[in-house]
Amino acid sequence: MSEDHIDWGYLERKAWEVLKKYPLCDRCLGRLFARLGHGLSNKDRGRAIKTSLIMTLHKMIIEGAPQSIFTDVAPNIGGPASGLYRKLTGQDLEERTCAICGGRLETFIEEAVERAIPLIKAYGVKRFIVGARVSPPILEREERIKEEYKLEHGESIRAEIRREIGKLIQERIDAVAEFERPEATILVEFPSGAVWIQVNSLLLRGRYWKLGRMISQAYWPTPEGPKYFSIEQALWPLLKLTGGERVILHASGREDVDARMLGTGRPMVVEVKVPRRRDIPLQEMEETINKSNRWVKIALEGYATRQDITLYKSEEARKEKTYKALIAVEGGVAEEELRKIEEELTGRVIMQRTPTRVLHRRPDILRRRRVLETSCKTLTKTLAECLITAEGGLYVKELISGDNGRTTPSFSEILGRGAECVELDVVAVKL
Ligand SMILES: [Zn+2]
Repeated sequence: MSEDHIDWGYLERKAWEVLKKYPLCDRCLGRLFARLGHGLSNKDRGRAIKTSLIMTLHKMIIEGAPQSIFTDVAPNIGGPASGLYRKLTGQDLEERTCAICGGRLETFIEEAVERAIPLIKAYGVKRFIVGARVSPPILEREERIKEEYKLEHGESIRAEIRREIGKLIQERIDAVAEFERPEATILVEFPSGAVWIQVNSLLLRGRYWKLGRMISQAYWPTPEGPKYFSIEQALWPLLKLTGGERVILHASGREDVDARMLGTGRPMVVEVKVPRRRDIPLQEMEETINKSNRWVKIALEGYATRQDITLYKSEEARKEKTYKALIAVEGGVAEEELRKIEEELTGRVIMQRTPTRVLHRRPDILRRRRVLETSCKTLTKTLAECLITAEGGLYVKELISGDNGRTTPSFSEILGRGAECVELDVVAVKL
């Protein structure tokens, strides 16, 4: 009886062809047909195909085909074939090891799940994704078989590992496998069995206010201790609350160390690296930070994403800022002179070479920024106070002093004598 005359279905025929050459476990056989049927596991598929194949071959033997049609392929089918094999030959079946996974996939999945669960619990993760690394020879063997038999409905072993592990973890603990804002990635390596966790940062969106001067944004360590108190240091209580390893501040721009940040506050994203707790209410985090120091206050508005950080950074240059400057003028200043400054500067593009005070760390370039509005009043004979709204990135201290002609026009240039910014506050940052 030639196989061309056998009346059997696509699945049995393909499976028989593959299994004549390659021993395959239920999962690896089922995976070759993974996109046929829905809501089934590859193990179910493989087992069903094997069962159906065994029954078909048995029917052919009953109808006169030689037993070898089954006994030759039985060791490659494995377990499900053992009953019929014993019945026909009186011997125990010696199963061969799966040609793709080496027979390790089943236990690997179970063990990986058992290793992943304590890691997920230790970091209080509720949403995770699974990533899988599979040794290249295994991927190649699988691809080769698919090509050799023109099997077009399969999926990769990597996809199966990821899905099955995700599914089992989800069934066993209170966590979901989710691509939307995952809190951690469980990485598994097949066949080594290594399992590790990559915990994503906790990202919080909010604003900060700097009520004092000589406070830096980033933590600034020196051998004698921090150079200044910093916004980042003010955020350190978050480490205790979350069990995180590090706090990083991503602010939308920055003010000078000696400038206060008042008014609207400055938009920021706070990043807590490798947190062990994530379920702390925003209000509790906010209050703990605000109670812990006098000079830095924060408001937390919600959770952020990596894209928010990029957005905050990229839009920084275009954002409007309003400053309040206390200005000292040599020989005093009259109200009419302030009107002249308001008139000349409002709407004006200011040309600024990199300020002398930052030349040691920034390249000497020319920047153009527009002043949108100025409003000044005299406080004493020599002191004036100005509200200046400008495009982000304008160096306000230099707008006042002129920086020896490196910034033009400037208060000094318009007045024809020295003017200097004595105190500077940022009062509004638009987002
Ligand atoms: Zn296998």
